[in-house]
Amino acid sequence: MCGIVGYIGPKRACDVLIEGLKRLEYRGYDSAGVCVYHAGRLHIAKSPGRISELEKKIAEDPAIQCGTVGIGHTRWATHGEPNEANAHPHCDLSGRIALVHNGIIENYAPLKRFLSDHGHVFRSETDTEVLAQLIGRFCQDGAETLEDAVRAALSEVGGTYGIAVMSASEPDKLVVARKGSPLIVGVGSGEYIVASDASAILEHTTNVVYLNDNEMAVVTRDSLRTMTLDNVPVSKEVEQIEWSLEQIAKGGHEHFMLKEIFEQPEVVKMCMRGRVDLRDMRIQLGGLESVTGALLRTKRLILTACGTAWHAALVGDYLFEDLARIPTEVQYASEFRYRNPIVEDDTTVIAISQSGETADTLAALREAKEKGALALGIVNVVGSTIARETDAGVYLHAGPEIGVASTKAFTCQLVVETMVALLLGRKRLLSQPVMEQYLRELAAIPDKMQRVLDKAEEIRKIAEDYVDRDNWLFLGRGYNYPIALEGALKLKEISYIHAEGLPAAEMKHGPIALIHEGMPAVFVTPQGPTYDKILGNIEEVRARRGKIIAVASEGDEGIRSCCDRVITVPDCPVALQPMLTVIPLQLLAYYAAVARGCNVDKPRNLAKSVTVE
Ligand code: GLU
Repeated sequence: MCGIVGYIGPKRACDVLIEGLKRLEYRGYDSAGVCVYHAGRLHIAKSPGRISELEKKIAEDPAIQCGTVGIGHTRWATHGEPNEANAHPHCDLSGRIALVHNGIIENYAPLKRFLSDHGHVFRSETDTEVLAQLIGRFCQDGAETLEDAVRAALSEVGGTYGIAVMSASEPDKLVVARKGSPLIVGVGSGEYIVASDASAILEHTTNVVYLNDNEMAVVTRDSLRTMTLDNVPVSKEVEQIEWSLEQIAKGGHEHFMLKEIFEQPEVVKMCMRGRVDLRDMRIQLGGLESVTGALLRTKRLILTACGTAWHAALVGDYLFEDLARIPTEVQYASEFRYRNPIVEDDTTVIAISQSGETADTLAALREAKEKGALALGIVNVVGSTIARETDAGVYLHAGPEIGVASTKAFTCQLVVETMVALLLGRKRLLSQPVMEQYLRELAAIPDKMQRVLDKAEEIRKIAEDYVDRDNWLFLGRGYNYPIALEGALKLKEISYIHAEGLPAAEMKHGPIALIHEGMPAVFVTPQGPTYDKILGNIEEVRARRGKIIAVASEGDEGIRSCCDRVITVPDCPVALQPMLTVIPLQLLAYYAAVARGCNVDKPRNLAKSVTVE
């Protein structure tokens, strides 16, 4: 998820590492650290917060300033709070091997138990330290070289990683490896810079070697060897980086928001990794283990959130009632606190927030706790205030979201709610075959999301054709009613076009008065129990000469005859449809905003994390 940089060459390693870490800052991080070899030992400096804090520590440590080989990291915590102990690099038991890691070691818990039983003492809560100690153990058990030990350790771990490792016993060497998290080796003159992202390398060289998944590299002062994780040599071309620093930060997209929309298949996979278990056909949510009993006793669920997360909560309302049969209600966090809410025994409150710092949501959470509710959190930022103040929770693992208008965090919120609903549902009423069907369908969502993203060009044309209209309606029913609200909010937020989202059947009770010739009405209407009813609502708009844009199921040819434009999404169970149907609406808003020349990533008057009530 976050940043790795490593250096070996004639220069002061700490300078190259710090400069590289600063280049990686745009990815978002919560702590940083470096390790440099000098005079027979590894020297480490780590700090939570800004890289300037780390620089201060380095300035006080002459040994770190001397070395010419080292590794550095910006951490975006997934396991353990963002504090100094959890920051990378992490060492083995001897302190002679150090490692930085991006990603998640899924089986860290059993490995940690095994190592603890064999005398290993852990200094952090991270999954990463387990890998560092495992590598140390293979060295101690007779691995001939650092790369042999790394290879042996990696054969034991599951999950995703980009890693860089160094050892005081083989000081003129860096070992890097990747599986599911990028790594690049920059080939300079007389030096190598390894990094998770080309932006940390560009300052030094545009010559790079890209590692593929399941490959590793051994870099010395004057050589670079690449091989598979099974130790089969791989020969690699040195390629040229052609992107500018800014293009790299945005992954080649014009805006962070577009990058984040396109990242959704990948981050949704991250969010499900190790949790949607297709081998044992179950949901595993480590973060809820301590409260499963209390959760099962829950008689009433209250989901509380603001903005886009509130829309995710509305989808959650359907999910928890439908799949787990728990009476659920959704409250605006800003209202919950001031309405003297009824919180009885066996009430569970779930606070949903990307940043985990949303002031209104935090206030609602505190109110719920005060009244004795079991308080859970669904947040993206590890160690954030909501994460710390809840009794338990589930992280999104969506990676840093930089665009102010939330996209990938929203879809991951839906995924987490679905996983929680299935976990509870299975314990309450869902049969195993039904559970298995949902698990398979969930696992298929990333590929289906990609199929929707492949329609971006088509959606851009629709946005451009209607971007001159000042009022839009978004309509949906059931699970797709909150998606209609979210579509309208996205359009408002970034293009400043006025839009309203409604449950489709409500239109005739008032808002239909707004419809006039040429007004766009976006119907979110994939196949489902209310499909036929929505067709009636479409006719009502058509009769008043509105323009119909439909988000419909693939293969629904019939709908084309009553719509001006149709965007199709793949079929999936109704409960999972929002994860797919929201994507065309995100893209519609994005392209409308671009066509209007708006500042997509920083819309006027909005802030990424709203820390005032
Ligand atoms: N899972 C690791 C941790 O929590 C690495 C997170 C990252 O990619 O920055 O420390």
